[in-house]
Amino acid sequence: MSTSTPRQNVVDCQDLFKIYKRAELEVVALRGLDLQVTAGEFIAVVGASGSGKTTLLNILAGLDRPSAGRVMVGERDLLTLTEKDLVTYRRWEVGFVWQTVSRNLLPYLTARDNVALPMAIGGKDEGGRHQRATDLLTTLGLGSMTERYPSQLSGGEQQRVAIAVALANNPLMVLADEPTGELDTHTAVEVFHGLRAVAETYNTTVVMVTHYPGVARYVDRVVQIRDGRLSTEVVMRPTFRGSGENALEEYVLVDAAGRLQLPEDMLEQLQLQGRVKVETQGDRLVIRHVG
Ligand code: ADP
Ligand code: MG
Repeated sequence: MSTSTPRQNVVDCQDLFKIYKRAELEVVALRGLDLQVTAGEFIAVVGASGSGKTTLLNILAGLDRPSAGRVMVGERDLLTLTEKDLVTYRRWEVGFVWQTVSRNLLPYLTARDNVALPMAIGGKDEGGRHQRATDLLTTLGLGSMTERYPSQLSGGEQQRVAIAVALANNPLMVLADEPTGELDTHTAVEVFHGLRAVAETYNTTVVMVTHYPGVARYVDRVVQIRDGRLSTEVVMRPTFRGSGENALEEYVLVDAAGRLQLPEDMLEQLQLQGRVKVETQGDRLVIRHVG
């Protein structure tokens, strides 16, 4: 592929809203979220507890419907998809890796049989299942462990088998909600490498929620959700790829309507709230506290 060809968006969320109604109470979990993710891109979603990360993942998973806005995954508009098509979508287009290690695998099946199971449900023949399960597990560095049962694998190895299970039917996208939440730091990195390997090898888009502090080093992009919107994005500087903290660049995101969220520390430092002065100075925008 030529570098000038724009990569295709697999995920396209525009002005997405999710409002939960519970008795008398309404909670706005997503308020005008914009997010695009391209084919084969591996992104991390970070943010404080309650900021809307799981809500976003559940919507992308087809487990929950947005209240308003636009959410396209591939060719599908998840806002208007029928219940029946949503079931098909969940079965074929998305794979999941859950935080709870034991929820991802069946204990009485070997690693290979766990990976083969979704393919059997999908109607693939036995030889094809065996081959693809072996290929996936090998991509994830588990080629020598295909006959082991989950209890004979470490937590990190089990999560990598879970990634293979999620990939079994070759979905467009894999969603992982805190897949390393139960793992130690070192093992977490192995899982990130596993997700990176499938994104690169199979051109699968990966959206992962995580609290891992140094995650930017292992993904293409980190997006931060604050109060139901995307506020900042962290990417590696291309020339510094893989070489430490100062290789990271943080951006504040401005949406199509000109909205942005100022970093909290700056808000406090400059006491910005309510009315402020905004003016341009050459190619700069200056936001000033007015006393
Ligand atoms: P995160 O995953 O970032 O911690 P969530 O997406 O789970 O955040 O939640 C975002 C907000 O929506 C929170 O205020 C949460 O309490 C609320 N919320 C999430 N799910 C529901 C639900 N099913 N009913 C009502 N409120 C919910
Ligand atoms: Mg959550």
